[in-house]
Amino acid sequence: MNNNSSLSHRKEEPENGILYIVGTPIGNLNDMSQRALNILKNVSFVACEDTRQTKKIMIKFNISNKLISFNKHNSSIKIPKIVKYLKEGKSIAIVSDAGMPGICDPGEDIVRIVKSEGIDIICVPGACAAITALVSSGLPSSRFVFEGFLPKKQIDREKILFEISKNEKTTIIYESPKRLRKLLKELFESCGGNREIMVARELTKRFEEHIGHNIDEVIEFFRDKDIIGEITVVVKGIKKKDLNTDRLIIKKDLNDLIDAGLSLSAASKYLAKRNGLRKSEIYNMF
Ligand code: SAM
Repeated sequence: MNNNSSLSHRKEEPENGILYIVGTPIGNLNDMSQRALNILKNVSFVACEDTRQTKKIMIKFNISNKLISFNKHNSSIKIPKIVKYLKEGKSIAIVSDAGMPGICDPGEDIVRIVKSEGIDIICVPGACAAITALVSSGLPSSRFVFEGFLPKKQIDREKILFEISKNEKTTIIYESPKRLRKLLKELFESCGGNREIMVARELTKRFEEHIGHNIDEVIEFFRDKDIIGEITVVVKGIKKKDLNTDRLIIKKDLNDLIDAGLSLSAASKYLAKRNGLRKSEIYNMF
């Protein structure tokens, strides 16, 4: 196949010398596809993030094949070995603990390196929490931004939160249950309590929940609850029209505060916090 060849008329899978990127369920094992099972059963071996997790799938579907561990800690040693085996004609599958490899999971680096060696890659698609949450949210899904986990460093985090607050597209965020409260508070501060949002919990599983509709309501929902399970957050984008209308309102508020005796700096600081904007943006409106 390589970069320019056609995907039609493929031979029976798995083919020798191909790296298969195999999507696995994000909770509900019935989401495992027949094609994925065939690949896991018949490749030369399966490289997986955590052999204990992948074993559960293998046992459930009665598959016995060789598993090797492949994760961010050993990838620099494992990638050259995998490339060597592929060049020798072996077929190899990569799976992560759940969902699509390469989406906040190991996979991205190996695909890039294997492709640069002229070796073919085939993706066998499966569940992905981001896409499952997005289409379940009812929020606009034709244009969206996937942020994955927000950075831990506060300055980097604030930069992304600021971008989210101004983005016209729907944003998808992965978050751990331990940090959800902090994220909701930050979203409240940057986007305001009215912004539409859906928190998807335990997608595809028995206790699946979709919690909405705006940030105020979601904060209230979780106020006295222990938060457990897997979480994906979907935030609606802002309408361009709203941005312009907001600017007019903010400008008027700024003038009113200055007329009432506040300094330009103090008024800008106050309005920046209230509207989730930078102080300089408000300052320059005057
Ligand atoms: N590769 C995976 C995918 O394709 O979705 C994502 C792996 S990432 C390490 C794990 C994060 O995905 C979780 O912390 C959570 O934010 C999200 N996630 C995974 N399964 C989920 C589920 N069943 N419901 C909601 N979010 C989920």
